[in-house]
Amino acid sequence: MRSLMAHKIILTKMKVLKFGGTSVGTVDSLRSVKRIVESNATPIIVVVSALGGLTDRLIATARKAASGDESYREDMAAMSQRHYDIINELIPAARRADTLDKVNDLLSQLGRNYDGVYLLRDLPAHTLDVIVSFGERMSSVIVTAMIDGASRYDSLTFIKTENWFSKNIADQKLTTRLIREAFADLEGVAIVPGFISTDRDSGIITNLGRGGSDFTAALIAAALDATLLEIWTDVDGFMSADPRVIPDARVMPTMTFIESMELCSFGAKVIYPPTIYPVFHKNIPIKILNTFNPEAPGTLICDHNENENTGIKGISSIKGITLFSLSTISHRESKQLRSRALNALARRGVTLLHATREDGEPMVTLAVAGSDADTVYSLLASEFAPELSKGTLKDIKRTDRLATVAVVGEGMRERTRLAPRILNTLHRDSINVASYTHKPSATTLSFVVKEEAVSRTLQLLHALMF
Ligand code: ADP
Ligand code: ASP
Ligand code: MG
Repeated sequence: MRSLMAHKIILTKMKVLKFGGTSVGTVDSLRSVKRIVESNATPIIVVVSALGGLTDRLIATARKAASGDESYREDMAAMSQRHYDIINELIPAARRADTLDKVNDLLSQLGRNYDGVYLLRDLPAHTLDVIVSFGERMSSVIVTAMIDGASRYDSLTFIKTENWFSKNIADQKLTTRLIREAFADLEGVAIVPGFISTDRDSGIITNLGRGGSDFTAALIAAALDATLLEIWTDVDGFMSADPRVIPDARVMPTMTFIESMELCSFGAKVIYPPTIYPVFHKNIPIKILNTFNPEAPGTLICDHNENENTGIKGISSIKGITLFSLSTISHRESKQLRSRALNALARRGVTLLHATREDGEPMVTLAVAGSDADTVYSLLASEFAPELSKGTLKDIKRTDRLATVAVVGEGMRERTRLAPRILNTLHRDSINVASYTHKPSATTLSFVVKEEAVSRTLQLLHALMF
């Protein structure tokens, strides 16, 4: 039976479209979503985020309720009204009452969750996960009603996570099987709430992490061997830098999977980093497109592009970084310590943003997100307790409030003189580079600067390279 279902999907080639929060934020943007979806051949799958800004609002309101602030009820009323206004404006009369019923049912469940948090003055992580899930559950009901003939598919039943060091991570094997079953009879337009999932063991509501609707879309695209994954957002494509920091950032017409993966894991917010792996694995191209300017060609991310110019594709940065430096007594020692440190972090599921063994002094440096810094400090202190007491490891130095900056492009492989030019440019402007790595074959050069120097660093490097 299962192989028959899979066979049917393979014959039905289709695209997956994902619309982010800004695209589903207002009546006007939703009208644009409707036009874009309806201009496509069917079958197609459309993944939607919560109304723009709603996830932040759901979280802020939960925190208010937990702190005993009664105004959570006013927030709740405002969020409800925002959904009612959109329904009244957009949903055809014949489907309006039914849509209002469905959204009202979700709003009353949400209200009960807030009341519970307020009464108990407690906001456990699993309750917050339930609360944020209502964003996508409501937006998907509205978008389904807005598009003629569309059907809603509930991702809570087929996107599954497992718990790993108190993080929820996708169980891709199970999810792939469940997606194939859920969409076996796909026809027309399927609307899917992004971001939300359930725990594979307990069934409780979880999610794929902030920005995770991109990942929902990628998991579906990969499971169904889609022809293309379109990420519809509020900019004309993947740009050479964050346009909010570098106003003259340029749209890149093409990028390789590796380039986009590197830029996103180093902070380019345009795609949620885990998104790229499943589609890369299946060689499904990604297009970044603008809901507010659908005619713009966007950015095509694929494995390899015939006309590829192998230049530098972008610069990105992440703030709030902590750097740990371990000063050892010899280079041989630092090599061993480095691999033990990496293993200790990996065992605890901590993401390492940057690691280097300095060529000059015998030292290992590790950059992690500030939110992981306390955990990492305890891990390193216990892993290296014997070395610290023997004195073969001098100390573990911790520096907070740093930023990593990454310069990415396949062209980096050939441009061996670029690293010294970058460092010189920063040096001339008195920007101190705390640590940097660049393997000769790599597409990425990354380094660490003080948080307050990050905008200036991006400006200087963007002017140097674009
Ligand atoms: P969505 O709500 O559609 O998921 P996001 O806010 O997650 O949108 O991502 C789009 C935003 O990413 C853009 O508005 C832009 O400000 C930001 N961004 C950061 N770096 C880049 C980049 N290199 N290229 C394009 N956009 C970027
Ligand atoms: N609504 C979720 C968030 O704001 C997921 C997403 O938009 O991708 O993080
Ligand atoms: Mg996003």
